[in-house]
Amino acid sequence: MTNSILQSVFNLFLKPECPLCARPTDQEFCHYCQQQLLECQFTHPGLFPGQVPIFVWGRYGGVLKRAIAALKYDGNPQIAKMLGYCLAEGWLNTVNRVPQNLVVVPIPLHPDKLKKRGFNQAELLGRGFCEITGLPIKPHGLQRVKNTEALHGLSRQQREQNLLGALRVGKDTLPPRSSVLIIDDIYTTGATVNAAIQALKLRKIKVAGVVALATTASPKSSPGSLSSMA
Ligand SMILES: [Zn+2]
Repeated sequence: MTNSILQSVFNLFLKPECPLCARPTDQEFCHYCQQQLLECQFTHPGLFPGQVPIFVWGRYGGVLKRAIAALKYDGNPQIAKMLGYCLAEGWLNTVNRVPQNLVVVPIPLHPDKLKKRGFNQAELLGRGFCEITGLPIKPHGLQRVKNTEALHGLSRQQREQNLLGALRVGKDTLPPRSSVLIIDDIYTTGATVNAAIQALKLRKIKVAGVVALATTASPKSSPGSLSSMA
């Protein structure tokens, strides 16, 4: 059997298709969905007021929302890498320079949830992000010690109450004088991020900022203050 025949036989069983629309493709998404995805990106960087600079790549809706759902709930972890690349490209275009002491730490899942899902989407996103930015990733820089209930549908106050003490510094040791860049898939009220900042600050670890892929909120501040991320 020649290689080309073998390949055709193989292709009969392996039907690569777009996880979002089922069109045939040999990439993470088909060309159509890639275009749609880029339309979700904020024209001006999605910057949000908070304790630290928060960079969000795009609007949580349309194809971006479907891509995150396909990643988290339909077992398509390979999508995370490409989304991490998008996030990295957007972020690099916004910051003046990448500080050398930055370490990327993903928002962790509770061990029970991690076992159920098989992967932490924020970590996978972070790995793609770090491939492009060249920054080191510490997947266990933080740990989730409290299994919080699903946060959607809760008020801001309820979310914050729920997350109180839910995160702690994890088993990964951070290099001296490092500054943490927190990464997450979706930024909503900021309650999770605030819990992470609180946990790191308790251990006197500096937090440089937050990067997230999507948000339902609208960006408010001017992009200028992002350059202070150092
Ligand atoms: Zn598609």
